[in-house]
Amino acid sequence: MMNPKNNKTGCLIVVSGPSGTGKSTIVNSVLDTCKELSFSVSATTRPQREGETEGVDYYFVTKEQFQQMIDNNELLEHAEYVGNFYGTPRKAVLDKIDNGLNILLDIEVQGAEQIKRQYPEAVTMFVVPPSWEELERRLINRGTDSMEKIQARLKQAKSEIEKIENYDYIIVNDVLETAISEVISIIATQDYKYDKRINDLTEAYSL
Ligand code: 5GP
Repeated sequence: MMNPKNNKTGCLIVVSGPSGTGKSTIVNSVLDTCKELSFSVSATTRPQREGETEGVDYYFVTKEQFQQMIDNNELLEHAEYVGNFYGTPRKAVLDKIDNGLNILLDIEVQGAEQIKRQYPEAVTMFVVPPSWEELERRLINRGTDSMEKIQARLKQAKSEIEKIENYDYIIVNDVLETAISEVISIIATQDYKYDKRINDLTEAYSL
C-alpha cells in the first residue's frame, strides 16, 4: 500500500473516456510535456494495430498468457472491453510510485473503479467530447475499426459515460490544446497536496 505520509510516494493518475474522445492524443501530448511522468504500458489480447509498438503502446499477449497473468496476480486491475482483455501490470506501476514517480494509466471505467477502490488517493479523470454526435463522428473518422467494431464501441461508450460520476475530474475535449493543459494542471497540483509537502515542513517548523 502507498504510505500517504511518505512524500516520496508517486501519484497514480488515471485517464478514462470512451474511444474516439481524443483521449490518446491528450495522453501522448501530456506525456511529451511532463517528462517526469511515466506511462503504464498495459497488457492486451487485442490485435496490434498498424503503427503500434510492442512494449510501448501495449504488451500484446494471447488469451492464455493474459489468464496466466491474472492467475499469478500480476495485474493491478483488468477488464474485458469490446471482446478483448486489458490489464495493468502490477509490478511496473508499484515500483514507480514507490520511487516517487507519477504514473499515468490510460484505462477504461471498470479498471478505473478497481484502481480507485485499492488506491482512493489515485487521481481520476474522464475525457469526453462535447456531444454524443461529436463522439460518433470522431470514432467513424478514426478509420481504424470495422463498422461492426465502431457500433460496439459506441454502445460501450454509452455505458462508460454513465460512470462519469465516479471520477474526480471531467475533461471536455472540445479544443484539444485546452483539454491538454487542463490535464497538465490537474497533474501539477498534485505536488502541492498536504501529504506531499508536509514532510518537508515537519522538520523546518518542528511540527
Ligand atoms: P484500445 O483498444 O482503443 O487501445 O483501448 C480500448 C480501451 O481499453 C480504452 O478505453 C483504453 O483506455 C482501455 N485500456 C487500455 N489499457 C487498459 C488496461 O490496462 N486496463 C483497462 N481496464 N483498460 C485499458
